[in-house]
Amino acid sequence: MLADRFETKLLHSVKKQKLPIKSKVTPIYQTSAFTFEDLDDLERFYRGEGNYLYTRSGNPNTDELGEAVAAIEGAPAGVATSSGISAILAGVLAACKSGDHIVAADDLYGGSFHLLKNELNQLGIETTFVPFSDLQQVEQAIQSNTKLLYTESITNPLLRVENLEAVVDLAKRYSLVTIVDNTFATPYHCNPYILGADLVIHSATKYIGGHSDITAGVVVGKEGLVAKARKKVVNLGANVSPFEAWLTCRGLKTLALRMKSQTQNARKLAEALMTNENVEKVYYPFDHSEEGFGAIVTIELSKKVDVNKFFRALSWVKIIPTLAGVETTVSHPMSTSHRALPPKAREALGITKEVVRISVGIEHSEDIIQVFERAIENSV
Ligand SMILES: *Cc1c(COP(=O)(O)O)cnc(C)c1O
Repeated sequence: MLADRFETKLLHSVKKQKLPIKSKVTPIYQTSAFTFEDLDDLERFYRGEGNYLYTRSGNPNTDELGEAVAAIEGAPAGVATSSGISAILAGVLAACKSGDHIVAADDLYGGSFHLLKNELNQLGIETTFVPFSDLQQVEQAIQSNTKLLYTESITNPLLRVENLEAVVDLAKRYSLVTIVDNTFATPYHCNPYILGADLVIHSATKYIGGHSDITAGVVVGKEGLVAKARKKVVNLGANVSPFEAWLTCRGLKTLALRMKSQTQNARKLAEALMTNENVEKVYYPFDHSEEGFGAIVTIELSKKVDVNKFFRALSWVKIIPTLAGVETTVSHPMSTSHRALPPKAREALGITKEVVRISVGIEHSEDIIQVFERAIENSV
């Protein structure tokens, strides 16, 4: 063996372990590419017999995440992405090309609205936004070039629960693809694929990850469409990093525990705030399940409450422009998630200055209720 010099030794002394290691958890394949023994080995990869080539086009950790969420949603295929938004982009581009038309719900998450209305519109994919609470309007918006119905299982922040069976029914009558963003409901409460949706999107940044420490997305659904979405992910560079995929898989394992606790707490908080004289309205889908339906509670404070003072009085509850962590947090939709909406459209949806979205965490329910009751009391 040649005696390598110092510089060379530094690089090649770091050897990959070749022991038959059986780690309990999938290791993090924090590598941008995979090595090959010889040209035959490369040929095997291109014949589909090898595993991995380059992390942008596939990595054990990112595949693990896509496959896990697919299995949990009851879908045959899934692909993980760099964010919820890139999951939506990949999903929509799997179903639509330039010249196609989309009918989407008019109360979508602000970022999704922006993506469809501005970015995809510029690429020649036009979207008509209509209230999906009125399926007649949805049907009337369908054109000869419509390819896709796009909605969310529970909307943000007013928590309208979509009648997914009816939406899927309508889509099937017109041979349209249905894509459902299931971020708020999570597969704990709802499985749109089982109800007939073709693709299901998650911002895994939210409940799937659950700890506010990653940005990731997932598209799951029919094999053909997911294969197309995967191509978009690879070609547009929308892959998630191995480490973030690994963290997301770790979070996913406790989804049921977190959702059960967060949902129960949310329902109790919603009930408590309904009887508060300084809360004008409480939005919570009470009638969808005994246990509760989701862990977001949106309230409209009365005009007597100084909203900014209320936020300051919330003690350990932080303002954060996201949701779904294990800690209880609040957001102000008007200044964050729905900032991109034109003021008129925002008002029409009922998103005023007094509207506060609460992402309920896993603290003790009595403490959560108390912190909100006190903050309201101290800000009138
Ligand atoms: C946050 C969110 C998104 C976007 O996800 P990112 O991970 O922030 O890109 C999409 N849809 C819904 C419902 C969301 O809450």
